[in-house]
Amino acid sequence: MYVILLGPPGCGKGTQSKRLIERLQIPHLSTGDMLRQAKKAGTPLGLKVAECIDQGKLVSDELIMDLVAERIQQSDCRAGCLFDGVPRTIAQAESLDVMLGKNGVSLAHVFELVVDQEELLRRMLERAKVEGRADDNEETIRRRMEVYATETRPLVDYYRQRGKLRTVEGIGTPDEVFQRIANYLAG
Ligand code: ADP
Repeated sequence: MYVILLGPPGCGKGTQSKRLIERLQIPHLSTGDMLRQAKKAGTPLGLKVAECIDQGKLVSDELIMDLVAERIQQSDCRAGCLFDGVPRTIAQAESLDVMLGKNGVSLAHVFELVVDQEELLRRMLERAKVEGRADDNEETIRRRMEVYATETRPLVDYYRQRGKLRTVEGIGTPDEVFQRIANYLAG
């Protein structure tokens, strides 16, 4: 089963991703993780994207979709995967539809985690203190939230129009939130 987890920085995508891939027994395709690995390894790709990541800007659609194309052709993704952090723009969503279509498959669900702005900011600043991720400082966090609002939020309508959108309230314990996701899987 191919599923997308969609939502702004701090919405709990990481936490719910772990539970979801375990439940569905599918690989986790996180573009954020892939890019951070490339950055850490200092590969040519890593050097190219480092500045974007650290400033909270988006990496180019072309580069991202090349990464995704390569990953979904691997045999472990043949029966499905969880897309986390991608798509982030309408262009990426269209491109993903084409890629999956070529493989004769399609998305089953797009889960949108909904959390209010105030709670998001609170969680992100807390995470910045605890984890110390290079792009978790107040300025970059605000930038990423703006980018989400302008570039990624339109995907909600894109997937709603295609009958794929599953809205999930992201407030509550991680187990409570996951139960809401699981309800859609059962139904
Ligand atoms: P977040 O914690 O905000 O959900 P991620 O861990 O998914 O962020 O990604 C971190 C950074 O990697 C983003 O701010 C962006 O610079 C880059 N990135 C990740 N996925 C994409 C994508 N699909 N398109 C463009 N840039 C991306």
